[in-house]
Amino acid sequence: MRSKLEWRQARVAAVCEVAADVRQIDFAVEGFVPRFDPGSHVNFQTEISGAPVTRTYSCVPTPHAGQIRVAVKLHEKSRGGSRFMWGLAPGDAVTMSLPENRFELSWRAPYYLLLAGGIGITPIYGMALTLKERGIPFRLVYGARSKALMAYADNLATELGDAVVLRDGEKDEFIDIAGEIAALPENGELYVCGPIPMLNAVKAAWEDAGRPLGRLRYEVFGDSGAFAEEAFEVTVANRNMTVAVRPDQSLLEALMGAGIDMIYDCQRGECGLCAVEVIERTGEIDHRDVFFSAEEKAQGKRMCACVSRLASGSATIDIGYRP
Ligand SMILES: Cc1cc2nc3c(=O)[nH]c(=O)nc-3n(C[C@H](O)[C@H](O)[C@H](O)COP(=O)(O)OP(=O)(O)OC[C@H]3O[C@@H](n4cnc5c(N)ncnc54)[C@H](O)[C@@H]3O)c2cc1C
Repeated sequence: MRSKLEWRQARVAAVCEVAADVRQIDFAVEGFVPRFDPGSHVNFQTEISGAPVTRTYSCVPTPHAGQIRVAVKLHEKSRGGSRFMWGLAPGDAVTMSLPENRFELSWRAPYYLLLAGGIGITPIYGMALTLKERGIPFRLVYGARSKALMAYADNLATELGDAVVLRDGEKDEFIDIAGEIAALPENGELYVCGPIPMLNAVKAAWEDAGRPLGRLRYEVFGDSGAFAEEAFEVTVANRNMTVAVRPDQSLLEALMGAGIDMIYDCQRGECGLCAVEVIERTGEIDHRDVFFSAEEKAQGKRMCACVSRLASGSATIDIGYRP
């Protein structure tokens, strides 16, 4: 059960590299493409091991009307999504959705702080350009392990001037999250996209600074965890069933594959709709969501079935629970 997407046919118009591990791909989409706001993303249909899957990519600014531009990082452990995108060449046909947006700017704040880590720049780039166009004050701080891995670093410096600060990990430069939050004017809003440890650090610093949670917005790509993916098993208490979860499957996919109806939506650990209660377990939970607080994660009593998994072992879960 999730919101309806409008699928379209599209052709690859152009491909180029925008960082050592990031490829920009332009798509000419059939039919009229409605205007969309920064923070929007599109979905692509592909296959992994013969089974249909969807992969999601944020829309980055493009000067070509009617086209959609994405930038894709080649994932080291890709099961197929980013490898499929990297295999695309001009003229290739794809099935993709029209943009949808779950990471919208509020437009109500007097000042915006934008933080991006690595490929997390993709939704943030359009936000920064739009804020600049509208004359709304903002600061963008963009960090990565090295300058070579920073997609659009040069464009941003040219287009945004002093409003952007780059933090190059190779030069031991890191984003001073607490310092950036302290410097953000009252009523300012923070938008962040990056790896899970960065998002967790931002959430913790925001709370420590006593800032209202409604003024912090983030997007997760749901593609990283603390442990490598291993097989594990769950016994579903209220169904009396045991389900094996393969390393290349999420818990949500395995439960649904076993015929269990699940309520879910975002599939990236943000909305919490698919959260299950963990009654007992032998393995550690690899929490890959940003829905639960650090305290809830440490308690280990609930987990988001769409992205989080057991590092190994088995658990008894209750899917009847909804937060
Ligand atoms: C809203 C949104 C916007 C996004 N925007 C972008 C973007 O602009 N650019 C971009 O490059 N990516 C973006 N992504 C991420 C993208 O959708 C894919 O997740 C990414 O390309 C990896 O896909 P893959 O199939 O190559 O890798 P996967 O096979 O999905 O593997 C990637 C990682 O997922 C983990 N993983 C592997 N198996 C499992 C499993 N069974 N369960 C859980 N985790 C597992 C591993 O840590 C692995 O390293 C976005 C995601 C979302 C949700």
